[in-house]
Amino acid sequence: MAKKPRRKCASQSCREWFHPIRDGQVVCCYECATAVAKEQTAKNRAEVMRTEKKRQREEEKTRRHRQAERRQAVKPLNYFIRQAQQAFNDFIRYRDRHLPCISCDRHHEGQYHAGHFRTTGANPELRFNEDNCHKQCSACNNHLSGNLINYRPALIQKIGQARFDALMGPHDLPKWKRDDYIQIRDEYRAKLKELKKQVAA
Ligand SMILES: [Zn+2]
Ligand SMILES: [Zn+2]
Repeated sequence: MAKKPRRKCASQSCREWFHPIRDGQVVCCYECATAVAKEQTAKNRAEVMRTEKKRQREEEKTRRHRQAERRQAVKPLNYFIRQAQQAFNDFIRYRDRHLPCISCDRHHEGQYHAGHFRTTGANPELRFNEDNCHKQCSACNNHLSGNLINYRPALIQKIGQARFDALMGPHDLPKWKRDDYIQIRDEYRAKLKELKKQVAA
């Protein structure tokens, strides 16, 4: 019988050349066969551990996702009011970006706010009324409590007497809930985006 071609022992710790005697013989000796069996077991164990780790990672991901959802669900209403107000104010500031401060008529470097004519504290129903909110410098908004004496004539000039009267008239207080604030937030984010797109075009 022809001698079988030599091959390398499959044991990682051996790797010696040997001449197989039997078909399918991959190790040079009994010790190496044991070693290979052990290596195989270790490999299988590593594979099992890899799979298990992957499963744990996915489980952790799902858990974190659910936790984030739950955190969102228990967020106080105030959080959503702030988010909606932020989106609304961003829109107002951008809408009036070329205009001076509504109260002092100044253009200046520095921060601008979205200043409500009728305050959100006393008139929460006018919180998201676009006639009620205009670009205002921080000095007027923060230090002069809105500088309303000068805000008023400028506002009448800007929106007209009829709209001003409507603004001053009675308004229902909508029973806004969490989802309403989320909707208002998304609406104003979209409006701002649309406005920016128009400007860019
Ligand atoms: Zn060997
Ligand atoms: Zn001002």
